[in-house]
Amino acid sequence: MKKIVAWKPLPEDVLAYLQQHAQVVQVDAAQHDTFVAALKDADGGIGSSVKITPAMLEGATRLKALSTISVGFDQFDVADLTRRGIVLAHTPDVLTESTADTVFSLILASARRVVELADWVKAGHWQHSIGPAQFGVDVQGKTLGIVGLGRIGGAVARRAALGFNMKVLYTNRSANPQAEAAYGARRVGLAELLATSDFVCLQVPLTAETKHLIGAAELKSMKKSAILINASRGATVDEAALIEALQKGTIHGAGLDVFETEPLPADSPLLKLANVVALPHIGSATHETRHAMARNAAENLVAALDGTLAVNVVNREVLAA
Ligand code: NAP
Repeated sequence: MKKIVAWKPLPEDVLAYLQQHAQVVQVDAAQHDTFVAALKDADGGIGSSVKITPAMLEGATRLKALSTISVGFDQFDVADLTRRGIVLAHTPDVLTESTADTVFSLILASARRVVELADWVKAGHWQHSIGPAQFGVDVQGKTLGIVGLGRIGGAVARRAALGFNMKVLYTNRSANPQAEAAYGARRVGLAELLATSDFVCLQVPLTAETKHLIGAAELKSMKKSAILINASRGATVDEAALIEALQKGTIHGAGLDVFETEPLPADSPLLKLANVVALPHIGSATHETRHAMARNAAENLVAALDGTLAVNVVNREVLAA
């Protein structure tokens, strides 16, 4: 019987499904040596939120497929997996809408100061009717710049254009004609997007090219009234530069779901800033979506081990070989 290593707790029905196809060994990724030892005689692996390095796969000669319970695959060295003939599967689409909801809640919460003012009410400060000191800024009718308009960016663009009457700009390496036709999105260079957007929303994957895509210079080129939203990966933004920009008022505020170090350290200056909404990486974190992702990843893994997986493959070259 085939052996699968799971380094993330799985819903009961998903675990039962996998057990119909293989012996499932559940490991705690924090127990590094046990985890690596389990990979050595496994045929497949499933999990998320843990960096899987080439060193961890040395001697894992039976390993045929890894399945991440996420759409992002920056935790893997894809070229190394391909060299080893290991298929990498991921879970696009099932999390697109719930992640776009998270992005939009960051936009609204940052602009309308929802978290800050809800805390203010709970602290007993609402003694008189509110005034300009509690006002926010409009979202509807403003310009949203999406850096990386793919699946999630497209779902954000739909909410923005059709729900909030926003003008949508985007940067991609290639055009997205569907978003242009459906939401009037206009493709511009990053410089123009940064200079003209009221909300700059990052939805690119984390790659060597997108690491620190937004640094001090980019923040400086944004409007002073602009709000930065990041629900991609923490490292797409130079966090030290962002902290400085928020402290100095270079930009108006930020809504962040992801950070360079997660969990966000308790002494992060971001936690002291009133113009920051910080969430604990909840992009896709609804009961429904997390269940669908686990199910999808399990099905991807079983199909990959059977040699029948045709979709959701990161490194198609392995299938061709
Ligand atoms: P996707 O459909 O592949 O979209 C990514 C977009 O980024 C594409 O339009 C792509 O267009 C663009 N892009 C890639 N490299 C670029 C570059 N160097 N410069 C400019 N644009 C670039 O992926 P998705 O499903 O929307 O997911 C996007 C990312 O969101 C994931 O990789 C993941 O890191 C993150 N995510 C976060 C959460 C969360 O919990 N916060 C949840 C889900 C996903 P081109 O290829 O034409 O450049």
